[in-house]
Amino acid sequence: MLDVSAERLAELKSKGFLFMKDKEHFVVRIILPAGMATSDELKKIAYVADKYAEGKVVVTVRLNAEIPGIKYENVEPMMKEMEELGLVYGGTNVGVRPLVCCKGTVCKFGLIDTQKLCKELHDEFFEAPLPHKFKINITGCPNNCAKVQLNDLAFMGSPKNTLRVFIGGRFGRQSIIGEEICKIPYESAKDVTNVCLDFFKAHGKAKQRFGDLLNEMKDTTEYKEFIEKLKGFTVQQ
Ligand code: SF4
Repeated sequence: MLDVSAERLAELKSKGFLFMKDKEHFVVRIILPAGMATSDELKKIAYVADKYAEGKVVVTVRLNAEIPGIKYENVEPMMKEMEELGLVYGGTNVGVRPLVCCKGTVCKFGLIDTQKLCKELHDEFFEAPLPHKFKINITGCPNNCAKVQLNDLAFMGSPKNTLRVFIGGRFGRQSIIGEEICKIPYESAKDVTNVCLDFFKAHGKAKQRFGDLLNEMKDTTEYKEFIEKLKGFTVQQ
């Protein structure tokens, strides 16, 4: 077993290098905004996987790339070279996690440009510091391939370039089905996200997920004001 302190492992985890179950190697998460990569970026990922690991790349369920099998002595040189190559790694800390969207941009059922919206929200909010992890999803139509009800905040494409907003979902050891709150114009997605993150920052506790916070505060004035604020973005049709 590798002899590295728990503090160092935590530091590396916060930077996207996770200790593997063999307790010898690391796996690094490389961020693919909106689940997309250019052929040039894919070549760079393949290059660092060959040079610093075992030549394997895994696509995660949240559409990022992970390279397993990195020896500890390769961690720092790999970080340096990935930075030089413009590969972004991380997304494993508290705060806004890598955003996920379905392929609604090209899918025949897509009612909105999911990848464009996902990239815009990624650029604005990815890794924004919060009391706990926060997952944002975008799905292009009611077929719901990206499963909006299982995320802290999610948008579902709706006709006339509008978005149905869901909040408070989570999935894992404990699951909560997110609640649909309102339907907004596409252009209001950033403002709605800001309102949700501000509420979480103001009231959330460490290790408390957004859905648990909302359930805890359901009878408070602050919660009611928060919901009214979100409903204030409702599209006028
Ligand atoms: S949710 Fe709709 S738009 Fe997105 S991939 Fe599924 S069918 Fe296509």
